[in-house]
Amino acid sequence: MKYALVTGGSRGIGRAVCIGLARLGYHVLVNYVHNAAEAKTTLDLVRESGGDGEVLMFDVADRQQVVKALEAWEKEHPDEYIEVLVNNAGIRRDNILALMPDDDWSRVLDTTLGGFYNVTQAVLQGMLFHKNGRIINMASVTGLKGMAGQANYAAAKGGLIAATKSLALEVARKRVTVNAIAPGFIQTDMVEGLDEEALKKTIPLGRFGKPEEVAALVTFLVSPAAAYITGEVISINGGLYT
Ligand code: NDP
Repeated sequence: MKYALVTGGSRGIGRAVCIGLARLGYHVLVNYVHNAAEAKTTLDLVRESGGDGEVLMFDVADRQQVVKALEAWEKEHPDEYIEVLVNNAGIRRDNILALMPDDDWSRVLDTTLGGFYNVTQAVLQGMLFHKNGRIINMASVTGLKGMAGQANYAAAKGGLIAATKSLALEVARKRVTVNAIAPGFIQTDMVEGLDEEALKKTIPLGRFGKPEEVAALVTFLVSPAAAYITGEVISINGGLYT
């Protein structure tokens, strides 16, 4: 059995990634923090696509929760390890910096950057020991180019990109690859409330992306065909930023 962990697998891009990995034959650990029902729906879809998995609740920003949940999983699976990790959980709390509440700054950083640190550290040992692993970090176009009203989100995603490049160098000799994906606007709950009609005009391909299109990139990066790609940031944004 090959195991993959997708943080924030209950909805949006994470859900599509879970289904994509299940189709590749992975037993998928569907992480969520609040929406148990949505996580269960993802698991149902994983099973409908011919795969299997389990749900795993923890807040990626809470180191103790992460360690407890993953230690418990390891105890139940003493001979197994997680060979694919998709650090996908993320939130946005947009505001101009001048008016940003402290909590909106720290919550976004804690979820994206803290989450990357907490979860990756907890699963990395298994990959290094087995000399095999794929880590994919969900960044954003905002982490590449910046966006007014998103200094917190840009700092988190930009930091995630830098961490991706550094970790890739640390673990390459152990045949663990680490890459980041930088999506533009993708049709999920996260973009609800944005003016889609106006934004579409700024996208050369004239539409928002689909979660399945991002998932296809993840499954490529996980595949043997991508074994020589590491430390990269791959954009998927309809030409929004090149
Ligand atoms: P959604 O808002 O649709 O889903 C967010 C997911 O993250 C949910 O599964 C949610 O779980 C989970 N999550 C949030 N906080 C935590 C936490 N502290 N611990 C564990 N899980 C958590 O987001 P998207 O699918 O749109 O985004 C997925 C990733 O892609 C994010 O990192 C986002 O920044 C990035 N991205 C998205 C873009 C877009 O346009 N949609 C563009 C660029 C990047 P629960 O259901 O339990 O709340």
